[in-house]
Amino acid sequence: MTKKYIIFQCTNCGRYLYTDKQHKTRQCPCGKQVKIKKAKKIGETKKPKEARQAIRKLQKEKSDTQGFFKYK
Ligand SMILES: [Zn+2]
Repeated sequence: MTKKYIIFQCTNCGRYLYTDKQHKTRQCPCGKQVKIKKAKKIGETKKPKEARQAIRKLQKEKSDTQGFFKYK
């Protein structure tokens, strides 16, 4: 049985997250219990490693363009 992982954006803070496709919700570090169905899906992959790499790339692009994830 092959697993799939969905990459999506938190509906509250816009963070990129990933979760097992079988899951219905995922707790974001911001505290929001994100419903996968309602979240903006970015993509999906079979490997969690790929999901993590994709997210790192997305976060970096986002912080470069918006400064959203930069910390003082
Ligand atoms: Zn969040």
